[in-house]
Amino acid sequence: GNHGGGGGGGLVRAVVRVRPGLESDRDNKPFHIKVVKGVDGEDLFQISATKSSRLETYRLDACYGEERKTREIFVAEMDAMIASLCQGLNSTVFALGAIGGGKTHTMKGSREEPGLIPLALEKILAEAEKTSCSKVEVSYYQVYMDRCYNLLDPRVGEVSVFDSSQGGRVRLRGLNRVCVKSLAEFQKIFEDGCARRLMGQTVDVSSRSHAVLTVIMSSSSTFSGKLNLVDLAGHEIDCKTCNDVVRLSEQRHVNKSLSFLSNVISALDTDESRVSFRDSTLTRILQDSLGGNNQVLTIACLGASSYLEASTTMNLVARSRHI
Ligand code: ADP
Ligand code: MG
Repeated sequence: GNHGGGGGGGLVRAVVRVRPGLESDRDNKPFHIKVVKGVDGEDLFQISATKSSRLETYRLDACYGEERKTREIFVAEMDAMIASLCQGLNSTVFALGAIGGGKTHTMKGSREEPGLIPLALEKILAEAEKTSCSKVEVSYYQVYMDRCYNLLDPRVGEVSVFDSSQGGRVRLRGLNRVCVKSLAEFQKIFEDGCARRLMGQTVDVSSRSHAVLTVIMSSSSTFSGKLNLVDLAGHEIDCKTCNDVVRLSEQRHVNKSLSFLSNVISALDTDESRVSFRDSTLTRILQDSLGGNNQVLTIACLGASSYLEASTTMNLVARSRHI
């Protein structure tokens, strides 16, 4: 891997997206950020608590400022990924960040600004018309408190994750795939799944669970590739309502699984033999898409939470490239 290199052609990419300030933000400048060029011409992202306090520097593959639209990020980061799907490669995109950082805006988006998920489906469906990889299927699930639930199932049934008897592959029972032929058809299925994501024991299960949309492209031959689009759970430094036992437990699960994930991603780029997928349900399920020739893109989404939360996001996304 070339983590930290200026070449940018690696299989693991880490980028940051900063969302614009919103009316609802208590303080739209809770930290200070700056993008500078490194010696190799690469983007260095700097963040500090105030203009005059110590700068933390992170080396990233790209920095997308407030003015950049999701479509630009899609074109720059995902075009090649989608082209390689039909060649049997798997790719995964993670949106990472604190609650309110813009993860769902980036992945799902809105009618006005479609997210990476609908943009990817639009392109994949167009691609399917032109190539032999004409079958497009999706599955959609969430991982909450280390357990997996099928979001395409109206009952939101639990998916069991187990090791297959042949080889080290993980198998899932209770997860279905739905064939999609048009973007409109997909949008309907996806919207229904998103609505199910919101239900649960606590009011905001959606921000405490990882949601994974998987697109499988296949042909009549054996070639097939998967694209996983992941809206990760939001991390929080100090949970304001954590006197609540359920919230506290949720937060522990979120922080632990994000930490395992960033360990896996950083090991992918340095020493794949050290990767430990088994530590969390999310990395176990995604194991066949992480490593080898598969591509991974992590997008750190920075909103207007505290400096501490922003620097936690940056540490997670760029753990192995922290200077
Ligand atoms: P998260 O999923 O990380 O908790 P959201 O995606 O829900 O955060 O974003 C929080 C709020 O900020 C939402 O109201 C969303 O519409 C808005 N928002 C996020 N990113 C952008 C952006 N790039 N441009 C405009 N509004 C954004
Ligand atoms: Mg969200």
